[in-house]
Amino acid sequence: MHVLIAGAGIGGLGAALCALHFGHRVTVVERADKLREVGAGIQLPPNAMRVFRALGLEPGIARNAFAPEAIEARMGETGRTLFDIPLGEAAKDRWGAPYLHIHRADYIAALRSALEARAPGSLQLGAGLADYRQTERGVEAVLDSGEVLHADLLIGADGIRSAVRKRMLGPDAPVFTGNVAWRAVVPVSALGEQAPRPTACAWMGRGRHAVTYRLRRGALANFVGVVERSDWTREGWSEPGERADALSDFAGWHPTVTTLLERVPDGALHRWALYDRAPLPRWTDGAVALLGDAAHPMLPFLAQGAAMAVEDAWVLARALSVPGRGVADSLRAYQAERLPRTTAVQAGSRANMGTFHQRTAWGRLSTYGPMWLAGRLAPTLVHRRMDWIYGHDVTRAPA
Ligand SMILES: Cc1cc2nc3c(=O)[nH]c(=O)nc-3n(C[C@H](O)[C@H](O)[C@H](O)COP(=O)(O)OP(=O)(O)OC[C@H]3O[C@@H](n4cnc5c(N)ncnc54)[C@H](O)[C@@H]3O)c2cc1C
Repeated sequence: MHVLIAGAGIGGLGAALCALHFGHRVTVVERADKLREVGAGIQLPPNAMRVFRALGLEPGIARNAFAPEAIEARMGETGRTLFDIPLGEAAKDRWGAPYLHIHRADYIAALRSALEARAPGSLQLGAGLADYRQTERGVEAVLDSGEVLHADLLIGADGIRSAVRKRMLGPDAPVFTGNVAWRAVVPVSALGEQAPRPTACAWMGRGRHAVTYRLRRGALANFVGVVERSDWTREGWSEPGERADALSDFAGWHPTVTTLLERVPDGALHRWALYDRAPLPRWTDGAVALLGDAAHPMLPFLAQGAAMAVEDAWVLARALSVPGRGVADSLRAYQAERLPRTTAVQAGSRANMGTFHQRTAWGRLSTYGPMWLAGRLAPTLVHRRMDWIYGHDVTRAPA
């Protein structure tokens, strides 16, 4: 089958690699002239790594990544540790694949080079999808240039403001969640003894939280800080942020957090408003399907948005490969398998906002007290709470 994919983010490139794995032919059209991922890190959990292992991509992805030694939760102001639980080998033993942190540019580069090696010429840059039409033989996709491409099916992996979704379900707007995120990447060598530990660490605060971790074999420290506010709703990776504003949002916080913000290289501090969308009623229309953020954007509070796109990619490609089933039925089977899981992860991400941002003394005591106790008395409880997410193996599920 010839699979046309709109969007060359993690979801689109992942979808192309999975489709190739299952024996299909792919074309990926990407609106941007260059694949430029932003200067920020991303957590790559075991449930997504399983897919890359099945695709034979684990070594290429792991080469420039970093495997955190532990998962930590700390109070943002005092730095008090709520729990600090081993992750490295435990992740592999418990969830069957490593938990990695990777620079987004390294992630995209690894996927792109695998695609170019396996299907040379299949990626077209500067080729935005403007519209599509269903035909008796599949789909006709109309590009911004007016060129028309034919394929057996179209996958809309074109992100939160998806043109494919708009065409399929009509116009609507993603919803501002009331959260603004700061992001920064700083060389560890610039941070001295305040460098974040080699862990995945969530720092909790009133109406805000931060996450610190390392990238690129440990040489870079990544910072994401999320603050609840209603007065700033511009969305985009490239909005520059003022150091003074970031420091004021995290005033009085632990020096690991404030030192990181003080030493971000000039121009490397960015912020953007976080949007999501209520679960959609459907993601497919005949020979067209949505995938990744186009189908289910979510708050980043479980660090699973891209991982869900990678799981989608495998399930969709496998669904297309069931003998004797038509494209539309295969896409409906994909949606039936994926929608309950992504809806649950979207809900879990929203629920984590309450956990991370407790504002009242009682809220903090009743939330962080049990966390602290579990960290000391039953650390595996913390792992067990994540089993439903990290332990999910789409590469094993039956077709
Ligand atoms: C602060 C923050 C932290 C996060 N942390 C994590 C994390 O740790 N782990 C995790 O798994 N996820 C995380 N996420 C979520 C993750 O970034 C997204 O879920 C993921 O990048 C979505 O990938 P995608 O390919 O679906 O969409 P996108 O990355 O948005 O890619 C869409 C692509 O389509 C292209 N495009 C758009 N329109 C068209 C068109 N009409 N025609 C052709 N091309 C088009 C775009 O140029 C783009 O390249 C985080 C998100 C945020 C905001």
